[in-house]
Amino acid sequence: MILIKRASDLHKHIASGRKQAGNVGFVPTMGALHEGHLSLIEASQKENGLTVCSIFVNPTQFNDPKDYEKYPVTMDKDIALLEEQGVDILFYPYVEEIYPNGLKDLGHYDLGYLETILEGKYRPGHFQGVCQVVHRLLEIVQPNNLYMGQKDYQQCMVVKRLLELTGLPIELHTCPTLREPDGLAMSSRNMRLHPEERQRAVEISRTLAAIGKEVIPGDLVKLSLWAEQELSRKGFKVDYVAIASALDLRLVDNWDGKEPLVTLAAAFLNEVRLIDNMLVPLRNE
Ligand code: AMP
Repeated sequence: MILIKRASDLHKHIASGRKQAGNVGFVPTMGALHEGHLSLIEASQKENGLTVCSIFVNPTQFNDPKDYEKYPVTMDKDIALLEEQGVDILFYPYVEEIYPNGLKDLGHYDLGYLETILEGKYRPGHFQGVCQVVHRLLEIVQPNNLYMGQKDYQQCMVVKRLLELTGLPIELHTCPTLREPDGLAMSSRNMRLHPEERQRAVEISRTLAAIGKEVIPGDLVKLSLWAEQELSRKGFKVDYVAIASALDLRLVDNWDGKEPLVTLAAAFLNEVRLIDNMLVPLRNE
């Protein structure tokens, strides 16, 4: 694996490797890697001759400075995992390499409705930060294929919109969420949970799965309120539990029984904010 810190060096390596490799696949991450990240890398390796992974904890997407400061960094372990996985190039730039003109005036992306709900509502500015870093990384790497996790459902929609806005000829592949054996969605932030919190954290995925089982056509407000109360009762500080259209994330209060649905939740266990989502399986009547 080649380790690269400078955008200009990365550019050169990819330019020389691209001819031989054919397609280039790209997996952007913030490090503290787990099997979820590795599953994206595997997907890229299956479909591309060259796979580039980046590790960059992007300051502009953290609306809470404490969250940024406490974001786990496990660089040596990450490098070993990526080596073992057979990644071709790891790009781990300094902040100045990604934002050469500083962190101000980084441009604004018109994300419309998507930015006003769920993560957009509870983390103001977060998706602008995501677009800033992903746009810059895509310009540097110029991949054919981009791999991201369904774990961050709304982020995938935002990046799809970014690709439309910028016209970059890149295909976005959304990969399934990898879970721990008890159902907890794998996340770098899980490392910050104390053992007792870790046990309780599974309630998020359990609650989302319960909504999926209970949902029937008609009013859905009661069901999402019930879910929110369940999580509060179990000691979470809940930002939201929502039932939304899987196609465009419009919140669905009254379901026609046909529209594909996704359930999404964000909640704190003490200082650690966890998110998860699940597609609601459509039942054939
Ligand atoms: P992060 O390092 O948290 O920014 O995540 C980097 C990429 O990995 C994003 O596209 C995430 O959606 C994806 N990812 C994070 N957790 C998981 C998971 N449990 N399963 C699959 N992909 C994931």
